[in-house]
Amino acid sequence: MIYIKSKNEIDLMKVAGKVIANLFEVLEKEIKPGITTLELDKIAEEFIIKNGCKPAFKGLYGFPASICTSINEEVVHGIPSLRRLKEGDIISIDVGATYKGYNADAARTYPVGIISKEAQRLIEVTKNSFFAGIKYAKEGNRLSDISYAIQTYVEGFGYSVVREYVGHGIGIKMHEDPQIPNFGPPGKGPRLKRGMCLAIEPMVNAGHYAVRTLEDNWTVVTVDGSLSAHYENTIVITDGDPEILTIL
Ligand code: MG
Repeated sequence: MIYIKSKNEIDLMKVAGKVIANLFEVLEKEIKPGITTLELDKIAEEFIIKNGCKPAFKGLYGFPASICTSINEEVVHGIPSLRRLKEGDIISIDVGATYKGYNADAARTYPVGIISKEAQRLIEVTKNSFFAGIKYAKEGNRLSDISYAIQTYVEGFGYSVVREYVGHGIGIKMHEDPQIPNFGPPGKGPRLKRGMCLAIEPMVNAGHYAVRTLEDNWTVVTVDGSLSAHYENTIVITDGDPEILTIL
């Protein structure tokens, strides 16, 4: 069941969303060769708590950290560790925050130092595919109109969208109905209504879309070893353009 949020509930989610947006500004400056992903996690956790929120991912389904850090061919759910970032890496950071019981969720992929043109293009296409998708996030449209727009945009650049992991409704729970694939035909799924809160999150592989999970039971990687990027925001359906809660 898709739960429609009241203005008051959305206001609480906005607080969590703004903390995440501000955190990305901090992390962007810290991401450079030599820093460990565990150091990034500590910065994020302290920032979230200092700003009155809780790190929503810590303990969620047993996840051990406050952010997911996924490097290069890692797609999502990478666990912060003593691994040091290297010049030329790309790193996807996924963050959730909870304010008074309400959640926001967002992800970005960042370059580490100077990266290849190909990696830069993957990051840009992934971000732009989110905005191509949310053009259709309007009251009265069908949910899969968003999915179709993202897939079409991404595949136009010769990349592929991950099938096994999808966007989601969000609110009191981090993952609520509906599931929001980044692929599939348009015109399917529920009609969008104002007050629906959705986390739209294209995960884009430079090569084939197939993924597998490593032995840590968390880290998802591309099967072909190609690079992967992630871009996510929490949005609210309104009577006009959607409101994005995790961008300043
Ligand atoms: Mg999400």
